[in-house]
Amino acid sequence: MSLEEYFRKRDFSRTPEPRGGEGNKPSEGRIYVIQKHAASHLHYDLRLEKDGVLKSWAIPKEPPTTKGIKRLAVQTEDHPIEYADFEGVIPEGEYGAGTVEIWDRGTFDIEEWTDEKIVVHIHGEKLRGRYCLIRFKKQEGGWLFFKTS
Ligand code: MN
Repeated sequence: MSLEEYFRKRDFSRTPEPRGGEGNKPSEGRIYVIQKHAASHLHYDLRLEKDGVLKSWAIPKEPPTTKGIKRLAVQTEDHPIEYADFEGVIPEGEYGAGTVEIWDRGTFDIEEWTDEKIVVHIHGEKLRGRYCLIRFKKQEGGWLFFKTS
């Protein structure tokens, strides 16, 4: 159900993005990936597997690899598990037009996951350690993303 928005925004006869969503891709439930997305504005799409989908946030600046840097992370629609492997060019005129490449990937463990606060231990190549996502009160869909240790 939570992939409805993902499907609605895309025309799979035009975009090379995976339709996915069949829920039959084997996974241990711990996929972590960040895709660098050169759309109209360059951003980094953080995705964390939860409940059979990839929970997603768009980060307008390079994700922090050290403590002391807080990044805005705007929550976007859930993506299918299959999206974690996607790299390619979304054609002009389609939603998210531009080049997508995997910037970092690995696994993660959950320390805490609520509607307001997410604490995870990320095991990637670039991002390694304990990371927090804290929901912003003021902005709908707005979170802060930072490394704590
Ligand atoms: Mn994106």
